[in-house]
Amino acid sequence: MAEFLTTNGTSYHIENVIIGAKLKLVLVSPYLQLSKTFFERLKDAANKGVQIKIIYGKDELKPNERNSLAELKNLELFFFENLHAKCYFNEREMVITSMNMYEFSEKNNREMGVFITKENDAKLFDKAIDETLSIMQSSELIGLSKTKRTLHQDRSNQTREKKRKKPTRGYCVRCEDRIPYDIRKPYCRDCFNIWFRYENPEYEENVCHGCGEFETTNMNKPVCYDCFTQYEVKTV
Ligand SMILES: [Zn+2]
Ligand SMILES: [Zn+2]
Repeated sequence: MAEFLTTNGTSYHIENVIIGAKLKLVLVSPYLQLSKTFFERLKDAANKGVQIKIIYGKDELKPNERNSLAELKNLELFFFENLHAKCYFNEREMVITSMNMYEFSEKNNREMGVFITKENDAKLFDKAIDETLSIMQSSELIGLSKTKRTLHQDRSNQTREKKRKKPTRGYCVRCEDRIPYDIRKPYCRDCFNIWFRYENPEYEENVCHGCGEFETTNMNKPVCYDCFTQYEVKTV
């Protein structure tokens, strides 16, 4: 029989689904943010040889978080923009809930969920897996190569990728938070307020607003050379 879960029970069972995975682990959650605990649990699972699939829908990953995920073996990341469902399962146990993935270690919100096992609720279990597979098939597989993260690297022998569409999401040039891409507003609200006290357009920052790589940037030049030529220079 399916078991009804409140906030605490939901956290508990999501964590157990991750810890208890022996073969596969599927995490479906719009928001993917990596708390330390969450990342460590994932890492343990990956090291045991568990095949991990994560489907998310809001692109909030910072370069460092992307790098952390790239370190994990057997992890596939899928992006589906209209995702609203939250569902977590391994080969035996499943939680369907209102709780986002990163919230399992926090307990501030009121959440509900149901816990089911393949053994006791085989039909329900299989239907949820079918629906997850259907979402996965409409999702975009996200490549998890490590970003470069080096300051002032030599780009002379790098082949230039062809011009791409301007991104919709950028990075705060100071704290790397994800913010809308707009080269006139390359700071998040908090960092902008601090910057605004001095209003120095040449004040040196270390993040490219476009790609999130380590680059020397400032208010006047918030993106790296590559991003500038790709997104900002008008083709004639
Ligand atoms: Zn910021
Ligand atoms: Zn860049």
